[in-house]
Amino acid sequence: MTPKKTDTEQEALIKSLAKKTDEHEFYTPIPKNYQFGRTKYVFVTGSVISGVGKGIFSASLAKLLKDQGLHVEAMKFDGYLNVDAGTLNPYRHGEVFVLDDGTECDMDLGTYERFLDQDISKDNYLTAGKLFSQIITKERAGGYLGRDVQFIPHVTGEIKSFIRHLAQKSEADVVLIEVGGTAGDIESAYFLEALRELQYEEGAGNSCFVNVTYILKPSSLGEHKSKAAQLGIRTLMSMGIQPQLIVCRSTEPIPEKVREKLSIFSNVPVDRVIGLEDLQSIYQVPLKLKEAKADEIVTEILQLKAKLKSQEKALMQWEDFEKKMREPKSEINVAITGKYTGLHDAYASILNALEHAGEANCAHVNIHWVDTAKIETLKDAENALKGMQGVIVPGGFGSRGVEGKILCVQHCRENKVPYFGLCYGFQMAVIEFARNVCNIKGAHTTEVEPDCPEDVIDILPEQKEKEGLGGNMRLGGHKVDIKKGTVAESLYDATDAHERFRHRYECNPKYIDVLEKAGLVFSGKAPHHPIMQILELPAEQHPFFVGVQFHPEFTSRPLRPQPLFKGFVSACLKKN
Ligand code: GLN
Repeated sequence: MTPKKTDTEQEALIKSLAKKTDEHEFYTPIPKNYQFGRTKYVFVTGSVISGVGKGIFSASLAKLLKDQGLHVEAMKFDGYLNVDAGTLNPYRHGEVFVLDDGTECDMDLGTYERFLDQDISKDNYLTAGKLFSQIITKERAGGYLGRDVQFIPHVTGEIKSFIRHLAQKSEADVVLIEVGGTAGDIESAYFLEALRELQYEEGAGNSCFVNVTYILKPSSLGEHKSKAAQLGIRTLMSMGIQPQLIVCRSTEPIPEKVREKLSIFSNVPVDRVIGLEDLQSIYQVPLKLKEAKADEIVTEILQLKAKLKSQEKALMQWEDFEKKMREPKSEINVAITGKYTGLHDAYASILNALEHAGEANCAHVNIHWVDTAKIETLKDAENALKGMQGVIVPGGFGSRGVEGKILCVQHCRENKVPYFGLCYGFQMAVIEFARNVCNIKGAHTTEVEPDCPEDVIDILPEQKEKEGLGGNMRLGGHKVDIKKGTVAESLYDATDAHERFRHRYECNPKYIDVLEKAGLVFSGKAPHHPIMQILELPAEQHPFFVGVQFHPEFTSRPLRPQPLFKGFVSACLKKN
């Protein structure tokens, strides 16, 4: 008789997690067929201050891992109680990024998509609001077996389950999880606790804690001081979390002494304390991390070395892109009319898309912000747009600056200045064309003038019944059928496209005929509804006059610029 094999400590632990009755303290729902050790985890936390590029660091590290042939998923936790980012003010919080599945999320997820060149989904984004709303729904449905629902183990249990669900579904080699904020924040304390538990449960060699800290350099002292970082890391350690890699953000390169000091205070070997000073561009971050061997440190901790392929080719492509970015090139001036002209983060994806398209056209795009609330006449528009080779009217909501935007469109149309309207900018172009070409003087959008007699832009039929403002626009990726022989077709080099939407209003179908007869071309339409998705003026009439009901900026990637942005920049260059 073979002796009964005794469980290893890890196996015993995993079995105990499965005890789900209210007689036990454990609550860790494990997805069916979940394989421990199949997916490895990287946890990125912050200390000292937030807003120093934890997202860009995470995206860059994820990219370096992906370039070695690993399937990497990046995930973000945000501590705010909003269910998603849809109702956040971009002026306070930065752009609302829209995923293909319609999730409205933090702009960091845009950085993940761009750096990883891969679409992500709702399973990669968890806010406290979403977490608690799911827990409360589950509690009401009797999902916690008579237990009092507690932060530990229930809230942490649900967080772990969310992470493992993504690991299981995506079959990722590595799931990287960035926790918003810094260690010590009440908002993220239970997220960190869940990660601590996850590390313990997954066992040695299966996860890695990274802390992104900040090294101060007070101007009165002129030298780097590591005390704030020491205290921040100590806060993390007091929560039972031992960082395994420390990334020191700073304005200038930090001296060896600072790394040594942090090493002493944190039990992290000095070669695993790396510096990441401010760089000229975000595209240098992966290269800088490579130099500091950040990816090697992580794959060593995660025992992934045997699985890795050469990342040389991908790295060379990126290096080439980054180098070209810095080379001197022709310059173009592009105006962006926007409500949030004070905060560039509100337009992050547009700025990124212009950078990608600029690089593809060997052009540097200088951005000029134009506050259209100050534009009251065509002359004002002309003055505000003087010297511009192109104009973008970006997405927006509400009435502020609308008449000024319409005047900017008119200026571009009449003076053959390249015009690119994004979402609200599409709608502004429809109104302008209706008023000034079709002579429908009262043309407007019912968003601004609800009782408008000439409602050329009106609410989408499916939006009429919806109440409240959270998550109920026409959101996410939809197909666009493209008309043959149009500017859109030649730029996409295809007769259909897939683009991301976020809108409540549309070009009112009853005006399509009159607009088309007057010369406006609707070159992109939704396949089964009369929703107009791209408008343009023929290439013989205008160097570039294109409006899109979607947001092409969300799908532009550094090495795969969005075709319409590329065409716009190319037209601006010709205007030079
Ligand atoms: N306010 C417009 C709408 O809801 C445009 C939205 C946008 O630009 N994202 O349709």
